[in-house]
Amino acid sequence: MTTKEKIIFEINGADAKKLKRFERQHKNCPMGMEGGRFSYTFIPTGLGLAITVKCSCGQQLLLGDFLDGPGAEYDEENLRPLTEDGIKNKQFEEAALMILGLEDRRFFKMAIGLEQSFEIVYAYAVGVARYGDPRISKAILYKVSVNALHRQVKNYTGTEEENLEKFFEHFKSVVLEEMDKYHSDNERLREKCLSKQNKY
Ligand SMILES: [Zn+2]
Repeated sequence: MTTKEKIIFEINGADAKKLKRFERQHKNCPMGMEGGRFSYTFIPTGLGLAITVKCSCGQQLLLGDFLDGPGAEYDEENLRPLTEDGIKNKQFEEAALMILGLEDRRFFKMAIGLEQSFEIVYAYAVGVARYGDPRISKAILYKVSVNALHRQVKNYTGTEEENLEKFFEHFKSVVLEEMDKYHSDNERLREKCLSKQNKY
């Protein structure tokens, strides 16, 4: 609600019930730096209000009419408190999804503003890998990389260089392999990794 004096964001109805359950499920998570356990983000969009409630453990609850409407059930299993490993796995999956997003030619053009090219995908992925999870690094076919002994390693073979198809094929197979190691239930990422659309 917006008036001259104040702007109020509300969580009510079915969302309020989900929030109560989320709070109960996370009552033993540590307090954050500011003394609270939860942070709330409200993003008005053309499609409705997107609300994110984030617990100090890293788990997030998505609310609002933006995503799935009030009909969606509270998913207790997927909303359980995250362990340290759980947080790392979630960050790994988010990074993998960002890189896989660039596989789609139309999305690429929308996000980057240029025609899709190997160079940009590669530079972006290497940038994400540098500060991210080591598993992302493992999923990239490097033109030139430095191993633990600071020797340069080139793991392309033959004429595969600068080939988007090879790049994504390798990326997806390693991500899937890593997801299986911790029995990831991220179906969205799994689907993307299993898709073999010719988009190049
Ligand atoms: Zn929590």
